[in-house]
Amino acid sequence: MISLLKEATILSKGVYLQMVVNLKFLDDAIIRSNEPEEVLTFSYAKLGNRFIIPWRKVKGKLRRVVMEKQRGLGIEPNCHLKDDLCMRCPSCFLFGGTGETSSAKVPYNILARVLGETFISKEPVGEIQPYTANAIDEQTLSTGRGETGALFTLTKVPAETEFLGVITLKDPTSEIASILIDNIRRLSRLGARSVEWGRVKSEILGYRLSDREDISVYGLVSGENSELQKIDSLTLPEVDASYRKLDEQVKKLIESLG
Ligand SMILES: [Zn+2]
Repeated sequence: MISLLKEATILSKGVYLQMVVNLKFLDDAIIRSNEPEEVLTFSYAKLGNRFIIPWRKVKGKLRRVVMEKQRGLGIEPNCHLKDDLCMRCPSCFLFGGTGETSSAKVPYNILARVLGETFISKEPVGEIQPYTANAIDEQTLSTGRGETGALFTLTKVPAETEFLGVITLKDPTSEIASILIDNIRRLSRLGARSVEWGRVKSEILGYRLSDREDISVYGLVSGENSELQKIDSLTLPEVDASYRKLDEQVKKLIESLG
């Protein structure tokens, strides 16, 4: 029987808390993409055309929500993305950081404990009509920087579109699980920089504790059955207390490195 860990650890214990998450768009979203890795639709051989949300977009938003929350609790309020990570707070411990490039200039890196993969829309997309435009108009409206003639595409994702994703917590303690579950539930908006992304509703459909990552989004969307347990069946400590306790543990762990 695999259970949550008692203490936060530096070295992996090989325990994975996998949570299946349903994200529903409440508004029509117009998504602008101008980088190849920002492709927001994908044609799968078996699933057909689907809307997708790259994991780093979800991860970035989750991290911001955790940082806001811990700032509200007075924990490392000066920890900021991207170059001002403190490398010693719950947020850095969960989402990772590179010591050398942080302003903290510490000789260690932190590997992310929150892992995920691309979110995929539950239903195929009938027709995707990306609108490709020249970015020149936008440049004159903003700072005037940027490359002349850069192309971007606009894709509309209709309200009510639902996505499935799997968010995995590596080496979870009950405090870390409490923080992340609260975090996922408070995810109410996607896209920090681009206002085009709208309101979302997130719901954790269930979880599985395992010694490996054995649930995939592709499998779920394809209709594979995964045995999941109800998230409320986990007995977890209160969120604010969890941030404070994890903060203490992280600082002790980091001292032990020195
Ligand atoms: Zn930090």
